[in-house]
Amino acid sequence: MNIILLGPPGAGKGTQARLLTDQRGMVQLSTGDMLRAAQSSGTEMGKRVADVMARGDLVTDEIVIGLIREQLEQGTGSGFIFDGFPRTLAQADALGDLLAQMGQDLHAVIEMQVDDDVLVSRITARSTCGSCGEVYNDLTKPIPADGKCSNCGGTEFKRRADDTEEALRTRLMAYYKQTSPLIGYYHAKGLLKGVDGLGEIDQVARDIAALLD
Ligand code: AMP
Repeated sequence: MNIILLGPPGAGKGTQARLLTDQRGMVQLSTGDMLRAAQSSGTEMGKRVADVMARGDLVTDEIVIGLIREQLEQGTGSGFIFDGFPRTLAQADALGDLLAQMGQDLHAVIEMQVDDDVLVSRITARSTCGSCGEVYNDLTKPIPADGKCSNCGGTEFKRRADDTEEALRTRLMAYYKQTSPLIGYYHAKGLLKGVDGLGEIDQVARDIAALLD
């Protein structure tokens, strides 16, 4: 099964994608994670996109489609969770073409619905484990008191350079201008399903599971 998690920054896409990976053996494809990895390893492309990402704007379709193509060529397992991709209509068309070339379908697009005002508090309180990427939040899921990641025991935690109020405003604008048209696009294809992204992490996970089963 191949699915897309769609929603604004801070909606919980990454958290839910990781749960689906653990529970169903699906493969999470996060273009944001791939771009951050390219930056950390200092590739030319990583350097080119650093400023755009720090500002909160979208990087070019060509770059992210290329990243997804490379990953899809490596095989499917029990299916892909597209997290943060596609973000434009051109990316959505390209994904459809890539899956068709592989003889694969897209099975569902899950829109995670969250009010804008909670996004700021979620994003500015967010950190991730430097070793495994587990997502924490000072308010809703704090780093354990012993300072060790509950998933891998790692002790280093990072905040993202673009998790600031200013960058979030740009990221939200990019979402509404460039990404939200995908809601209509996938609705017209009969693939769109919505979940309330405001609930507890486990409740949202149960709602997603109910939609997929
Ligand atoms: P994310 O981790 O999904 O919030 O992505 C972080 C940043 O990476 C975004 O604000 C964009 O600058 C860039 N990015 C990630 N995925 C895409 C995409 N599909 N298209 C364009 N830019 C992207």
